[in-house]
Amino acid sequence: MDSLNRVAIITGGAVGIGRAIAIELAKEGCDIVINYNTSAEKALTLVEEIEKYGRHAIAVQADVGNFEDAKRLVQAAIDQFGGINILVNNAGIVADNLMLRMTEEQFDKVINTNLKGVWNMSKHALKYLLKANQGRIINITSVSGIMGNAGQTNYSAAKAGVIGLTKALAREIASRGVTVNAVAPGFIETSMTASLPTETVESWKQDIPLKRFGSVEEIAQSVAFLASEKAAYITGHVLTVDGGIVM
Ligand code: NAP
Repeated sequence: MDSLNRVAIITGGAVGIGRAIAIELAKEGCDIVINYNTSAEKALTLVEEIEKYGRHAIAVQADVGNFEDAKRLVQAAIDQFGGINILVNNAGIVADNLMLRMTEEQFDKVINTNLKGVWNMSKHALKYLLKANQGRIINITSVSGIMGNAGQTNYSAAKAGVIGLTKALAREIASRGVTVNAVAPGFIETSMTASLPTETVESWKQDIPLKRFGSVEEIAQSVAFLASEKAAYITGHVLTVDGGIVM
């Protein structure tokens, strides 16, 4: 596989979509830096699982919204593996509320993690990606950042911001062989959606042309495609993986 012996950092890689991305890229031959914020045990279990695929992995605690933490995370990847080829900015949080009730803290926290976290990580990883001359940055945004979603003025703004950042950075570094793309998931089966009432889930599914939620593996496979040589001519693109919600 063309990604053999490449090094990938996945932020928020211990659980959910990030975990599926870490496994998929390991299967494709990458060594993996799993970043976690609070899920230390799950990150360590995943390190062991990735080693079963014959690849190396490390787990590094860092809050991506913190500039110095992001720098330390990138440095840990360099110290361990000597370079970085793929950065997947997956870490994200929600703090939903209608604007009338949303606090300034809820707004700032979501922007800081979901948008500034992407900037922090890209900023620190950039010189190493450019050095490798064949890098990939893949940002996990959301259909909420394209369509807007009531109750998510903070999240939709952050995810729309990630799309703008993706396109601006793609233009900045295209000539250096590094592509920058985004994946915008729709409704994905995660622990969050599993806890929703059946009637809510069924009514949401009716609005999805493919009439089902996506799986974390379907997001991971899209990321693996964008990380591969097959996607060498794609940059500044937002790939919706959403069962057709956005069209
Ligand atoms: P999740 O299960 O809640 O996982 C969130 C991940 O983000 C966790 O790994 C968490 O790490 C990490 N994280 C949160 N704050 C962090 C911080 N400050 N620094 C570092 N890591 C941090 O969510 P998910 O559903 O897998 O979502 C992953 C990405 O997909 C997010 O960007 C989300 O917005 C996006 N997305 C999800 C859906 C969906 O339906 N699930 C739809 C559209 C977009 P710890 O557990 O270690 O704290």
